[in-house]
Amino acid sequence: MNIYRDVVVWDAESEAARRCDVCTENGKISAVKPAGTYAYGAAYEGRGRTALIPGFINAHGHAAMTLLRGFGEDLPLMDWLRKRIWPAEAKLDGELVYKGTMLSILEMLSTGTTCFADMYFFMDSVAEAALAAGIKAGLSRGIVGGDDGAAKLAENLKLARDYNGARGLINVQLGPHAPYTVPFDLMKDIAAAAKENDLSVQLHWLETKGEWDMVETGKTMGPEEYLEKAGFLDVKHLLLAHCVWMDREKMSFYAKPNITVAHNPKSNLKLGSGVAPVAAMNEAHINVALGTDGASSNNRLDMWDEMRYAALLQKGVNMDPSLLSARYALRMATKNGAEALGFSDTGLIREGWAADFMLIDLDMPHYAGWDLENLPGYLVYAGSSADIMTTVVAGSPLYHMGEFPGLDAERIIAEAAEARKKLI
Ligand SMILES: [Zn+2]
Repeated sequence: MNIYRDVVVWDAESEAARRCDVCTENGKISAVKPAGTYAYGAAYEGRGRTALIPGFINAHGHAAMTLLRGFGEDLPLMDWLRKRIWPAEAKLDGELVYKGTMLSILEMLSTGTTCFADMYFFMDSVAEAALAAGIKAGLSRGIVGGDDGAAKLAENLKLARDYNGARGLINVQLGPHAPYTVPFDLMKDIAAAAKENDLSVQLHWLETKGEWDMVETGKTMGPEEYLEKAGFLDVKHLLLAHCVWMDREKMSFYAKPNITVAHNPKSNLKLGSGVAPVAAMNEAHINVALGTDGASSNNRLDMWDEMRYAALLQKGVNMDPSLLSARYALRMATKNGAEALGFSDTGLIREGWAADFMLIDLDMPHYAGWDLENLPGYLVYAGSSADIMTTVVAGSPLYHMGEFPGLDAERIIAEAAEARKKLI
């Protein structure tokens, strides 16, 4: 058993922060008791000045794109994809994807992420990287159309057979890239395969303004009818990345227990795609999670940044500071993404829930004046991922004070830099 003594616990369902002793055992939180309950025994000493909050769940991304960071800056989505990203990605292989993913995992662990969604290729390599590091992941093979669309679906299904549930760290979804890259018939096959195999689905959805015009059946079907007719509404869980151009009139359609929107505020800003109407989604009771998207459209994999951007953007564009509270921003960054990736009992600090959390140094100057009531605002608006001392996944500290126990960070960074040279 590990004891975190006298830490300041806050999660998305706490009214206020509270001083607790937190114990972990077998990858789970085994006890959350008032501080001082465990007076004896070896423990991490929080001394009432270390916050313990749930680990972030990065609900949308392409981890190995860390290799393409800084490549194709300042271009709109379609130019960026066609002129820069897709030609470079054609040179990828399993080894390069492994190296890029390991690099992304270092960055995610050091910024508090304990679970990440990924849609890419050579996904066996991504699964192996996640298992080697001990981080949790929801993985899908990015399926695009063409002659080999069916083969890509078969590859995604094989990924599920090989890795679904591996060591409790990996869950597999199906990953049709987007309605403008996947023919409607293939979409229907993917939805049918998802139901047959009890798999969830993640895809890009309504990211950019003119995008629906590029959809094969876009002239005859609106987005909601498309989802219905393709057969996606009754899959286990449907994770829709972006939804920047979701029609406000149609929002109630998306308020379903098996649908989650992954909001990626920084990527949408950087690619000039717009700002997703998240405040209106909240009002319509849509489950909204947060993601970074790939490192070449962000360019960070820092969920703390996303949490702050998400909150500030809705206040700003709607000219209403009451929208998207600090507590809700944390909920989006933690609990709201868990179910969609197949990790229930994840994202809150509770007995029996996953021991996935981070420790935050409240002695940093920008926390002066914090108390148990105001801590949420301090964390979301004043804090940053630089304040994270430790990131724990399934009870194991995978990042601690600038070090990655069990990983050779120096080698991973050097190998990724070499891999990048091969692509560009
Ligand atoms: Zn994406």
